[in-house]
Amino acid sequence: MKTARRNIVWFRRDLRIGDHPALCAAMENSDEIIPVFILNKTQIAEAGSKLLAYMGQSLRALDQSLGNKLHIIEGDAVEILKDLIALYEVEEVHISAEYERFGAERDARVEAAGIPLVRTGSPYAVAPGRVVKPSDATPYKVYTPFYRAWRTHGWRAPAPTPKTINAPTPPDKYRAFPEFQMPEGVEIIAAGEAAALARFKSFTKSGLDGYDENRNLAGIDGTSKMSTYLKFGEIHPRTLLANLSESKAHDTFRKEIAWREFYADVLFNNPNTDTEYYAPRFKQMRYDPPADQFEAWCQGRTGYPFVDAAMRQLVIEGWMHNRTRMVVASFLVKDLHLEWQLGERFFAQHLVDYDVASNAHGWQWTAGTGTDASPYYRVFNPIEQGKRFDENGDYIRKYVSELAHLSASEIHQPWLFLGGYSEGYPERIVDHAVERIESLERLREIKEDKPEQPPRRSS
Ligand SMILES: Cc1cc2nc3c(=O)[nH]c(=O)nc-3n(C[C@H](O)[C@H](O)[C@H](O)COP(=O)(O)OP(=O)(O)OC[C@H]3O[C@@H](n4cnc5c(N)ncnc54)[C@H](O)[C@@H]3O)c2cc1C
Repeated sequence: MKTARRNIVWFRRDLRIGDHPALCAAMENSDEIIPVFILNKTQIAEAGSKLLAYMGQSLRALDQSLGNKLHIIEGDAVEILKDLIALYEVEEVHISAEYERFGAERDARVEAAGIPLVRTGSPYAVAPGRVVKPSDATPYKVYTPFYRAWRTHGWRAPAPTPKTINAPTPPDKYRAFPEFQMPEGVEIIAAGEAAALARFKSFTKSGLDGYDENRNLAGIDGTSKMSTYLKFGEIHPRTLLANLSESKAHDTFRKEIAWREFYADVLFNNPNTDTEYYAPRFKQMRYDPPADQFEAWCQGRTGYPFVDAAMRQLVIEGWMHNRTRMVVASFLVKDLHLEWQLGERFFAQHLVDYDVASNAHGWQWTAGTGTDASPYYRVFNPIEQGKRFDENGDYIRKYVSELAHLSASEIHQPWLFLGGYSEGYPERIVDHAVERIESLERLREIKEDKPEQPPRRSS
């Protein structure tokens, strides 16, 4: 005789128990839930080592919140779910809906194999595809009108956190916690829902009100650092949005959350743009093949201090400041004349917050091949950007030890000062002024209405 009514909660990009609509839905009509996380070999083979090690820690944290009842199983989702359904006489399988290609295709495959999925909620405040132009129900292509419509659309209040979760103790064979090692010397933020909430609390207390002024300053801790927590769903964006006011600082923060939602929407409507040019004409442009200069960029040895500090931050922390993400991306595409996908892949291997939509479209935006308003002729000047957003040179000093002896006025252009290279810092691999002109020339070659003259100064 059947004793308890049971539903599976299949965790994926939602490694939390608070503000989790799918978990609430599964609990609503069951006596027990079967919490499960499935490790996928292909996905693991493609993921970066820092990201995997972080995920392992996050799964441990989730397991703790679930009273050590998380089923962790490596293998094929269809087979595993079928086994669990039979073992526990499960009624329903609950998930947070997925919208990016890999997740959506996986879920479609599971359903095609005869396992219906109950979708409640998603990793977004407003699910991709929902915000459309009122005039013709087509998707937005530009961020600002999307943002207005997204706000008008609105979102639900956070879902309540369950007080107790009833789940059976998994058999040993379903406790296959992965042992991914964090690479030596790497310093990553603490993983898990509790760490996410604690960080958001401290950011709300001491960072949020100054966010609009500080968010671009690479050398200070002026941003929320929520990206990794959002990537693994250790916190939901609605929780971040719930108590924001209409102040300028809060609005700026809300707008950044909206960029994440915008890019998810753009990728949903243009599924190939994770690898292909959003504006196809840029495929025709002249690019260089990757060689030594690409290696120097990866290693943080371009000879441009702000670029090198950022690339070294990426490798050490698995995270990079947004300002410098733009600067290094511009450098790869406009100074080294390489295709954005090369940089996108390198980021994917090193970012712990790697997100397919934000990464590909962050790259395309900076490359000037994407959705917006950042035209191709806008070329970031790596020296001026450093002087402006790392005025004292603290950011550079932190990551580039060969420049730590230089003063604020020297550190951005070590080549101008005696002793600038005394600690072994590499010389510049290219001349920014020359390469900027070269990139504009390559742009001119693919312009339909040549010859438009771009503005004379770079940003
Ligand atoms: C080339 C490039 C690649 C990027 N790759 C990623 C990526 O793989 N994963 C990722 O999460 N973000 C990516 N971003 C966006 C952004 O740099 C990070 O989200 C941000 O630096 C994370 O730090 P934070 O949480 O402290 O941000 P905050 O400034 O505190 O912002 C709050 C949240 O808003 C969202 N957000 C902020 N800026 C952006 C943005 N420009 N685009 C999309 N969402 C944004 C993030 O979810 C972030 O956590 C990329 C940007 C560029 C230019």
